[in-house]
Amino acid sequence: MKILTIVGARPQFIKAAMLNRAIRARNDMSEVLVHTGQHHDAQMSDVFFQQLDIQRPQHSLGVSGGTHGDMTGRMMIALDPVLQVERPDLVLVYGDTNSTLAAAVCASKFGIPLAHVEAGLRSFNRAMPEEINRVLTDHLANYLFCPTRTAVENLQREGIVTNVHDVGDIMYDAALHYGNSPDNAALLSAELREVHQTRAYVLATIHRQENTDAPQRLGRIMDGILELADAHPVVLPLHPRTRGKLDDATLKRLCEHKQVYLTEPLGYLEMLQLERNAQLILTDSGGVQKEAFFFKVPCATLRDQTEWKELVDHGWNTLIDVSIDPIADRALRCYGRAGHADFNPYGEGHTSETILSTLISA
Ligand code: UDP
Repeated sequence: MKILTIVGARPQFIKAAMLNRAIRARNDMSEVLVHTGQHHDAQMSDVFFQQLDIQRPQHSLGVSGGTHGDMTGRMMIALDPVLQVERPDLVLVYGDTNSTLAAAVCASKFGIPLAHVEAGLRSFNRAMPEEINRVLTDHLANYLFCPTRTAVENLQREGIVTNVHDVGDIMYDAALHYGNSPDNAALLSAELREVHQTRAYVLATIHRQENTDAPQRLGRIMDGILELADAHPVVLPLHPRTRGKLDDATLKRLCEHKQVYLTEPLGYLEMLQLERNAQLILTDSGGVQKEAFFFKVPCATLRDQTEWKELVDHGWNTLIDVSIDPIADRALRCYGRAGHADFNPYGEGHTSETILSTLISA
């Protein structure tokens, strides 16, 4: 079986790494990798291919930037000839980015079976571009690989019941595989290694469009982080979108605060290492919410809703309403506070093998 996988953004490289590894270990499947270029620089792309030992993409489309429609359209224009030349048995996509949607539409129009990994997630907020991408992709997909029971039920409610598989979360596979190496700490800069050894800090990531593109929200978030840093060190790897939206005065305040560790985006191994030793993770990322739980670290999420609601139900995640809640105060209440034990909705860490055996026996 020839699988053509389309990736483009940071979390997709991480998810694709696990399947890429599992496909390479088999002799009944091969994989062609297409990189759309949505994330393309050293810190948002190259580092993941190196650290996670992902095969080099056979096709790099070089599409990034622009409005959602412009980016998605250019990806589709570039993808069509690739699909025509490669003629795969299956197109495989991950998650909810513009790369996911572009690939889903192109594959479907060519009549190539489409597999969606991380199917069925819903925030029920159609103002999120990711929500549009995942709903449309799920309705086009022929194989829907869901990370949780909740995701299966979301699909059922939309009438999608055929070829829906609850396979666990591929990010759990990745965290187990890459997150346990004692060598990861050595990759941290001396400054970050020092703070990480204290095991008494907050790790924060902010990049969702709803937070970065609304100046007032972004201002409140950064004020909250600065206030939090008066109490505990805060490590803040800055996503390029967020950096691009911060005004000079706020950037200066962050740089000058003694307990704010502002960094470029980190490699995945460094990120996992910082996550596992943190006392609190403050984020608006989907993947980071779960990784917090994988390492049994409490998480405070700067969003009104989450696709991973089981973490909220079991006390591992707290949603903070950025527009009204006192951010630092709410986050401080989560610092070091564990949720319920004996709860794991994300499978046993064998998601990649389960996906491949499902596909081969279909
Ligand atoms: N991540 C990383 N370096 C960073 C920030 C995040 O490697 O500086 C990883 C993180 O560990 C997780 C993934 O990127 O595996 C999450 O991606 P992101 O937050 O960009 O997207 P989302 O999950 O919200 O779609």
